[in-house]
Amino acid sequence: MTRAVRVVCHEVLVVFVVLQSLNLKRRKAGILPSLEDLLFYTIAEGQEKIPAHKFTTALKATGLRTGDPRLKECMEMLKVTLKTTSDGALDRHLFKKCVQSNIVLLTQAFRKKFVIPDFQSFSAHIDELYENAKNMSGGQVADYIPQLARFSPDLWAVALCTVDGQRHTVGDTKVPFCLQSCVKPLKYAIAVHDHGTEYVHRFIGKEPSGLRFNKLFLNEDDKPHNPMVNAGAIVCTSLIKVMNFMNKLAGNEYVGFSNATFQSERESGDRNFAIGYYLKEKKCFPEGTDMTSILDFYFQLCSIEVTCESASVMAATLANGGFCPITGERVLSPESVRNTLSLMHSCGMYDFSGQFAFHVGLPAKSGVAGGILLVVPNVMGIMCWSPPLDKLGNSVRGIQFCTDLVSLCNFHNYDNLRHFAKKLDPRREGGDQRVKSVINLLFAAYTGDVSALRRFALSSMDMEQRDYDSRTALHVAAAEGHAEVVRFLLEACKVNPVPKDRWGNTPMDEAVHFGHHDVVTILRDYHNQYTHQEGSTAKKNEENLDGML
Ligand code: GLU
Repeated sequence: MTRAVRVVCHEVLVVFVVLQSLNLKRRKAGILPSLEDLLFYTIAEGQEKIPAHKFTTALKATGLRTGDPRLKECMEMLKVTLKTTSDGALDRHLFKKCVQSNIVLLTQAFRKKFVIPDFQSFSAHIDELYENAKNMSGGQVADYIPQLARFSPDLWAVALCTVDGQRHTVGDTKVPFCLQSCVKPLKYAIAVHDHGTEYVHRFIGKEPSGLRFNKLFLNEDDKPHNPMVNAGAIVCTSLIKVMNFMNKLAGNEYVGFSNATFQSERESGDRNFAIGYYLKEKKCFPEGTDMTSILDFYFQLCSIEVTCESASVMAATLANGGFCPITGERVLSPESVRNTLSLMHSCGMYDFSGQFAFHVGLPAKSGVAGGILLVVPNVMGIMCWSPPLDKLGNSVRGIQFCTDLVSLCNFHNYDNLRHFAKKLDPRREGGDQRVKSVINLLFAAYTGDVSALRRFALSSMDMEQRDYDSRTALHVAAAEGHAEVVRFLLEACKVNPVPKDRWGNTPMDEAVHFGHHDVVTILRDYHNQYTHQEGSTAKKNEENLDGML
């Protein structure tokens, strides 16, 4: 069997093994080990028993928290079981007893089936971005009310929650602060969830205003421009009734209320009162609305307290189509979430919205307390919080973090996921994509398809990628005697001419072994030349590649 075909076979084998592993009937019949046993062997690493702390440490490395509501049964059983042991360790039997009621989630976690499979290394990247922004000193803490003015400018926190409920936090993530304008997308989502898009947009537009968020101004139809500016948010407030949505959005994590902030907002809220009266004059509210009590409700919603951690779950519920990742509860309709993300994308960052959409390309909403609620749709929700604001009212450190995140990872809405830009793709799909890319590359080398290889090189594919056996495209092309492919890989792509596969063979060994003399000559000539010009720079390679393509 040729090597390239073996690569494909290997993939088929993986799929086969996965299918096998789902054969629960056979497991139950005792023919195959149970999922619980597999999990035990994975974590035990050859030992007879698993110390409880080893289990919880391994669990945390997947991104799951021991306090995750989805693991309640497991954790309760663990507590009870540990009391019966003398050494705080679990044998296979006890382990099974503890994990069996949450085995599906645990198996997913340990088989790296979550959206961010390598959660530890992703978290390490987040910590670096956090540290980078921490050094920033610019900006002003809002001081129009004492409750905001009292915050230290040094406070800085980032918390994230993925759509699979993986959590990571860094910095002051447990300090309560008010959502302020970050509540605007949430109440808009609730309004659409309750009444539908058509009804809500009878009262509010969908267009960026191009004006400051608290401007006393309506669009041509005498409606507020959108629900992310104050006028729109005040009207939106008149369309919603309940606050218990907030708890559900946050998966029952911390949601509080700052009465002092509410009182101060009301006392200092002349502009909002002016907007309220203007909206009333222009008949912007549904019939029968009591404008002043709506304004009170508006100030109360601004005064809802969260922590960075709990707000990251709210953002994750938006990232997850309205389902709270850690409770599994459907909180908002998919339609309301889609609308909300669209409007956050175009209008969420005050007068920086267009630039943010351009540079970061993700839906976000910031607030005067220094929060930025950021959503990576279908991947994760993030809350950044740091009180110092830039001139446009956005958190200085928050903006830096969001920008850095998108420079590092291909999370921008218009980053191309197929022809990989040279950015990190921490998603699961990324892993699959890489496997596919090795197969495609080696298959093209096997069939001698130079034009496919040109396309791969143009889309920044790593032409030195190795398969399971550490074989490269050059090994395969040399073994198959495809002289043109060998030349292209060496001269245009400047791949390493002497990679070793897992048996220690180089492409030259392959060409000799299979008697491809033309390939032997090309490799030898190139090798001589290569050893003479070791200083060749990446830039030179690129120029060369341009020429050849
Ligand atoms: N309480 C503020 C207002 O309505 C919210 C400001 C903000 O976060 O943008 O004016």
